[in-house]
Amino acid sequence: MLKGIAASSGVTIAPAYKYETPEITIVKKEGVPEEEIAKFDAAVVTSKKDIEIIKEKAAGRLSDEELAIFDAHLMVVEDPAMAEEVKNMITNEKVNAEYALDCVAGNYIAIFESLDDEYMKARAADIRDVTTRIKFHLLGIKPADLSLIDSECIIVAHDLTPSDTAQLDKKFVKGFATEIGGRTSHSAIMARSLEIPAIVGVKGIMETVKAGDVLALDALKGDVVINPDEAAIAKYKAKEQKYNDEVVALKAYRDKETISVDGHKITLAANIGTPDDVEGALANGAEAVGLYRTEFLYMNSQALPTEEEQFVAYKKVLEAMKGRPVVVRTLDIGGDKKLPYLPIDPEMNPFLGYRAIRLCLDRKEIFRTQLRALLRASVYGELCIMFPMIATLDEFNAAKAMVEEEKSKLIEEGVAVSDHIEVGLMIEIPAAAVLADQFAKVADFFSIGTNDLIQYSMAADRMSEKVAYLYQPFNPSLLRLIKMTIDGAHKEGKWVGMCGEMAGEPDAISVLMGLGLDEFSMSATSILRARKIANSLSHAEMKELAAKAVACSTSSEVLDLIHSTVK
Ligand code: PEP
Ligand code: MG
Repeated sequence: MLKGIAASSGVTIAPAYKYETPEITIVKKEGVPEEEIAKFDAAVVTSKKDIEIIKEKAAGRLSDEELAIFDAHLMVVEDPAMAEEVKNMITNEKVNAEYALDCVAGNYIAIFESLDDEYMKARAADIRDVTTRIKFHLLGIKPADLSLIDSECIIVAHDLTPSDTAQLDKKFVKGFATEIGGRTSHSAIMARSLEIPAIVGVKGIMETVKAGDVLALDALKGDVVINPDEAAIAKYKAKEQKYNDEVVALKAYRDKETISVDGHKITLAANIGTPDDVEGALANGAEAVGLYRTEFLYMNSQALPTEEEQFVAYKKVLEAMKGRPVVVRTLDIGGDKKLPYLPIDPEMNPFLGYRAIRLCLDRKEIFRTQLRALLRASVYGELCIMFPMIATLDEFNAAKAMVEEEKSKLIEEGVAVSDHIEVGLMIEIPAAAVLADQFAKVADFFSIGTNDLIQYSMAADRMSEKVAYLYQPFNPSLLRLIKMTIDGAHKEGKWVGMCGEMAGEPDAISVLMGLGLDEFSMSATSILRARKIANSLSHAEMKELAAKAVACSTSSEVLDLIHSTVK
């Protein structure tokens, strides 16, 4: 048995189909510039056609969000700057096209990969995917065609690119396992949306598994069993059936309200990164958007997005949510998220430095543009504006004053602005949690960002694997900060959400409901399970559980308490 990271849930049994992308070695050669440029142009044209065909075939199988990956690929293949650099190198150094492309693409990939950020790393993967395709054409190599698979199998590969994944036909491809990759790699995301089981990061799988070996893929645990015996096959078949029945049963929760057995209502919301994510949020029964991370809008563009570009994106989300609340977080850049066109001086501790609201209150023109776009879009739905990384009341008041100023200016200019926009803040710095009762006098709502709140309470960098053991959502110290935040808000009649990963954690729903959390915002695919759990709990009992939990001394005590109370 091999172990990896469960990237897309499910269980399946089928023979292995080994997908090996041909190894390519690029050799530097001397070339005639005109000929090499012509070869390069032809390879680009063919690659562009390939991508268009793949996109066409995938339409209907993938959501708009996944299909957008191919628009990103088309942008790379048509990118004039990259083509120009390749041609300049061919001309100046008289080298062969594939060598020039390898150097230029390698530089781009290295830059994007060095930006310690999942989104930018995904851009690097796009460039690698597209330029490998061009190189195949330049070298006359034809890789295996995954779209031709016509019998049931589990694909085993070193890695699958988004174009590979898009060609998979669910009817035959029952799942996949790859040697590399993480939960947030593109192929993992696409597997989740195709709803096929996938395990990534399975070290040694390419060496161990032979084509045709029967595999049992347990993508609930991350186990790959090679040639299981009859008893094991029966066990995994039963597990597969149970899981599939559960998925069907969960769908029944899509249009239900979220309400405890004793009538206590909560809101289950989705975290989104782009307007295209709304589709998946609604399909999974989201009652609101609890966090729209607007920084992706900035990361996706070559320069600061204009007011108009932002307005279009915000309007799209508000309209698509049809009157359901949408919490838009203002720009949270800095820390691990950087913008290539907005250099920030290097800092010793970027997570404790110039980021989010700190940057926005300093670079006011950037902030005002975003606020104007938001205010203009506000008439298209239920907008809540949320500031990230607020540490002091002065910061919140300054940011809120700017909202009011821009609102007055727009109204003076004759632009319509909604009169019921809520303005709130993220509670992700312990200082803000402790002063929640004061913040609640001036803010309309809070949303607890546990990803940062935990790193700041524990003084443990969220990017560091070595101190990952300190990421303890169930530590009583954190539960007390959450309690303080909720109690402070409720005293002033304000609502509290949570948009950190903890909100979607099945074990956390009970204790958070007991503490009085009003809104839980999570990745769309976690919503239905969360609703099933919430609808089975008693609010009165959860209040008792929460009271005991905050009195515990360790995270494991809290978890034991939850497990013994919630069956
Ligand atoms: C958080 O800190 O919990 C949060 C939701 O924000 P981000 O993960 O984007 O920092
Ligand atoms: Mg945060």
